[in-house]
Amino acid sequence: MEHEISKREMKTQQSLVLIKPDGLLKSLTGNILTELSDTKLIIAGAKIVEVTKELAEEHYHHLMEEKFFDELIKYIMGEYHVKRVLALVYHGEDAISKIRKVVGATNPEKAEPTSIRGKYGRITSKGVFENVVHASENEKEAEREIKLWFKPEELAHTIYPTEEMEVKKVEYFWKTDKKKK
Ligand code: UDP
Ligand code: MG
Repeated sequence: MEHEISKREMKTQQSLVLIKPDGLLKSLTGNILTELSDTKLIIAGAKIVEVTKELAEEHYHHLMEEKFFDELIKYIMGEYHVKRVLALVYHGEDAISKIRKVVGATNPEKAEPTSIRGKYGRITSKGVFENVVHASENEKEAEREIKLWFKPEELAHTIYPTEEMEVKKVEYFWKTDKKKK
């Protein structure tokens, strides 16, 4: 029997969602956002990101030992589709499990056929699960991922504590021609 989550146990959480390069190429953004809106969670941040190798490897650092790691990095960097992802932060009660449910299991063949991954995902001939979306697995991962992908000022409200730091900023101006008359 499935465990019933009581109101009392519900927690305000955050989740990082990525619409992966295959989701963007297949024009699934609208459909995916519609499905995610069924959760009634709030979008706290959204942006298009061109994923660098450093960001990809940091995001998936826990899978470094897996045989599919190199292919996974190419996939998330958009080598097979488009070179960008749509990064979103969702916020609200029980955000992580609500989103994971709509998203479905990692393996698109095992995912509920009505879930996002079940509907739109596929397994490539190289064995990579092209499953169109990423969603944080737990609170610790959500915090690590959101801090990796977003700066505090890119989110509509403060989710995690911030600190002020003075930074030396270099700005460029057009060079003026100081020739003598
Ligand atoms: N992945 C894969 N083959 C596997 C396991 C994972 O291609 O056997 C890919 C897949 O795209 C997945 C990502 O690696 O979404 C991250 O894996 P993870 O186990 O964290 O699954 P997720 O949290 O995305 O469901
Ligand atoms: Mg994961």
